[in-house]
Amino acid sequence: MASRLFRRSLRLWGGWCAPCPPRSARCSHSGGEERLESPSAKKLTDIGIRRIFSSEHDIFRESVRKFFQEQVIPYHAEWEKAGEVSRELWEKAGKQGLLGINIAEHHGGIGGDFYSTAVVFEEQVYSNCSGPGFSLHSDIVMAYIANYGSEEQIKHFIPPMTAGKCIGAIAMTEPGAGSDLQGIRTHAKKDGSDWILNGSKVFISNGKLCDIVIVVAVTNPNARSPAHGISLFLVEDGMKGFIKGRKLQKMGLKAQDTAELFFEDVWLPASALLGEENKGFYYLMKELPQERLLIAISASSASEFMFEETREYAKQRKAFGKTIAHLQTVQHKLAELKTEICVTRAFVDSCLQLHAAKRLDSATASMAKYWSSEMQNHVAYDCVQLHGGWGYMWEYPIARAYVDARVQPIYGGTNEIMKELIARDIIQD
Ligand SMILES: Cc1cc2nc3c(=O)[nH]c(=O)nc-3n(C[C@H](O)[C@H](O)[C@H](O)COP(=O)(O)OP(=O)(O)OC[C@H]3O[C@@H](n4cnc5c(N)ncnc54)[C@H](O)[C@@H]3O)c2cc1C
Repeated sequence: MASRLFRRSLRLWGGWCAPCPPRSARCSHSGGEERLESPSAKKLTDIGIRRIFSSEHDIFRESVRKFFQEQVIPYHAEWEKAGEVSRELWEKAGKQGLLGINIAEHHGGIGGDFYSTAVVFEEQVYSNCSGPGFSLHSDIVMAYIANYGSEEQIKHFIPPMTAGKCIGAIAMTEPGAGSDLQGIRTHAKKDGSDWILNGSKVFISNGKLCDIVIVVAVTNPNARSPAHGISLFLVEDGMKGFIKGRKLQKMGLKAQDTAELFFEDVWLPASALLGEENKGFYYLMKELPQERLLIAISASSASEFMFEETREYAKQRKAFGKTIAHLQTVQHKLAELKTEICVTRAFVDSCLQLHAAKRLDSATASMAKYWSSEMQNHVAYDCVQLHGGWGYMWEYPIARAYVDARVQPIYGGTNEIMKELIARDIIQD
């Protein structure tokens, strides 16, 4: 793991733990003890478990958990009402080193490994606070800029994004095209070496707060296929003709600002093109597996969170003179849930390991996204059921986890599209 990230955690925690062995020995841990896997841990959300992590990650996780407990949980209800989190939170996250973790230090990121990125996302999910769009900003938007941006673009955007002073979004979906990305109509026309952008986007996460948005647009309507005529552009807040529309009212993710965006003759300099002209679709296909893995990571973590909430509830809630945890039907349900969650966790952790080694293929990432988000939804259903009427009340965390789960099989590519991608891989010669 990157030294900068580890040093930050040590500073935060008074440097009480000796550094871990080097990255090459990442799977042997301090004291030589075997790490527990999820099924044998006291709680599925415990710190210090799962062999994919090291004691360095544990120290980092402690600091991230503290951040969400102190800086996010107390304010989340307020942000749910506002439909967005505060900009101050972004800067606090930047100061804490929670943004751009997996972006190289020489690009202005933190320079941590992908496991540390996962730690931040998992801890956010364990806090049951879906408002901050940190992962989209750090692991999707920043990743595009770092991977395909020019030196000038990287220098301009990455450091303020790492500091939480510049918030990122990505705009692919349009009112008439979501799954079928090749059907987008937003287009950029060449004007000398510059571009004029027109069109609209919908359902854009971080859409209201964003300072920079990656816009997917058609640049060659006569290409041999639509995929060969799509490019990516970096559009900045405040550019003439870039209009942020309404914040959309959603079933869940109440504190996340999901918005419509409009582009009316937005003049873009040549330097706003991200990567090469007409290569946009290729870049999207390369980056989407990471987005899908991130959804799988959050789906597994949400399931673990819901399970622990429900286990506690069942041990306290009394019916017919005993706690409901004494009922065999409840015990069997908990046994089923734990088994499914742990089996899924094992697969997702293995995908995480493959991705950290740059070996995760698109079909496997799709399997992880499809499977874990479906599981999350049925875990959510069963956990609300085990809470009875209280599970339907907003004041109970399980109610929020239930509505937040519903979008997971929809965004990042619907699960029907995931099955298409998996199937294509199965039948190809
Ligand atoms: C809360 C939220 C946040 C989002 N954030 C972003 C964001 O930040 N940026 C962004 O660009 N987008 C974002 N999206 C958009 C999201 O990625 C799309 O909603 C998703 O890709 C589906 O597209 P669609 O809504 O147009 O559905 P459609 O494509 O219209 O699909 C409708 C139904 O038809 C099915 N279907 C379509 N094609 C096929 C097929 N070939 N085979 C089988 N079934 C098919 C779908 O699976 C679905 O069930 C977000 C969406 C939500 C709800």
